[in-house]
Amino acid sequence: MELQLDSIKWGTLDIPYKYGFSQRKTFALSVHPDLSVTVKAPLGYNAKDIQSFVRRRGGWISRAWRDFEQYLPKQPQRRYISGETHRYLGRQYRLKVQQGDTDSVKCLRGYLWVTTKKKSTSERAKILLDGWYRAHAKEIFQERLLVCHQKTSREAIPLPTLQIKQMVSRWGSFSLAGRITLNLELIKVPKECIDYVIQHELCHFKVKHHSPKFWKLMQNVMPDFEERRGKLNLYAE
Ligand SMILES: [Zn+2]
Repeated sequence: MELQLDSIKWGTLDIPYKYGFSQRKTFALSVHPDLSVTVKAPLGYNAKDIQSFVRRRGGWISRAWRDFEQYLPKQPQRRYISGETHRYLGRQYRLKVQQGDTDSVKCLRGYLWVTTKKKSTSERAKILLDGWYRAHAKEIFQERLLVCHQKTSREAIPLPTLQIKQMVSRWGSFSLAGRITLNLELIKVPKECIDYVIQHELCHFKVKHHSPKFWKLMQNVMPDFEERRGKLNLYAE
């Protein structure tokens, strides 16, 4: 059965899904642990029918997503003290906070060493570590943007400028004025997931909304985007 991509909006939630038709009597909907959604429908129905079917199941899908997410380790509240684990590019590092001659942050052998010049406090450690994350985000996001932009070279999208912000509810956004904004938190997930967000925002310069055309373009430039998106969702706090 050949599967197609589509998506619907359910409240504030975007529900992307794959669907296909086969010799069967009823509709079947499944939500997989990577949070992807598949719909199988009997022959004789069309894409519109599938959309209204998925819309009717919106509540059920969002509950299923939540259930899957409950199995994921939740990030505890950060206190910025030695022994705590912090993520960088998808890896876990143990924090070491110490006092020294100069302020510095180093990532070395599984540890994030935060050295503070003044008396080391957790507020001080947080400021230094956030600064370190931001400096690395700036460099790595720019590098990934160039890589992803290269993959859409056929689409002739002008290279957007990059902005990094602390955002609460989204990984990234785009403005048609030619800018992509990325959540600073993205520096904590693997590069393949960072690439997903950048590629996604880049594709919006070509197709504004999450229409089937949009997902088809994503599929073309990043055939394994669903896997990456599933992985990224595991990092959502
Ligand atoms: Zn989007």
